[in-house]
Amino acid sequence: MSRDLAEKIAVVTGSGRGIGLGIAKKLCEKGATIVISDISEENAKAGVAEIEKIGGKAIYVVADVSKYDQAENLIQTTIKELGDIHILVNNAGINKDSMMHKMSVDAWNAVIGVNLTGVFNTMRAAINPMREKEYGRIINISSASYLNGNIGQANYAAAKAGVVALTKTCAKENGKKNITCNAIVPGFIDTEMTRGVPEKAWDIMVSKISMGRAGTPEDIGNMIAFLVSDEASYITQGVFEVGGGMVL
Ligand code: NAP
Repeated sequence: MSRDLAEKIAVVTGSGRGIGLGIAKKLCEKGATIVISDISEENAKAGVAEIEKIGGKAIYVVADVSKYDQAENLIQTTIKELGDIHILVNNAGINKDSMMHKMSVDAWNAVIGVNLTGVFNTMRAAINPMREKEYGRIINISSASYLNGNIGQANYAAAKAGVVALTKTCAKENGKKNITCNAIVPGFIDTEMTRGVPEKAWDIMVSKISMGRAGTPEDIGNMIAFLVSDEASYITQGVFEVGGGMVL
């Protein structure tokens, strides 16, 4: 695999485990120095150990992305410790599912806070350093629910739709500064977030996937490694499904 990200510093939020860790590993394989960021210090340390296991370089910064001061500290610490920020992947996300008529305001606010405001917070903190250097690659993780909504996920679907609008706005505002911004729509990916579903529901989900299997965090990482590469320097404002042909 080419190491064309060798000079690049990449921040991945929610990368102590799950899709975020898969993304971090793929960027590391391409040579990037990784900032593992997670709300849990234990998971963040575990993420760094995984990167070191494959011969990569990583530091960690604990941050709850829903809090602006912590998001800003993440970006500023990255610049202070590693000298720059080239790649920002907004992956951190939570779900608190229930039908809207039963959804608590707390569940609404928590999911919007992490999945939408969290994306704004890190982008807001990183965008000026990127504009000054006239280089940036931003990837935001949305979800298939962004387009048509999803039963039991009013908060999650609304946040993920907002992520797409935020992505496209960022792309429009910053293209002339050589900053690309794209969104990824993962399909059904095997992580702790999905492992909680009952076996029957799992099988139904997999039956809707052309490739006949759930995706892996590395499947998402492969796409992102391409989107932040030089070969993808003219690709911005995009929304890309990585779902093995999943039809909902
Ligand atoms: P996951 O296994 O639950 O991992 C989520 C990660 O985000 C964890 O490391 C978690 O930290 C971290 N996190 C949670 N709240 C945070 C906060 N406030 N600040 C910073 N980090 C926080 O989920 P996943 O399946 O890997 O999902 C990753 C992203 O993909 C999410 O945005 C999700 O919505 C999206 N997605 C997933 C699927 C799927 O099929 N899995 C499909 C579509 C979209 P802790 O470990 O400390 O909890």
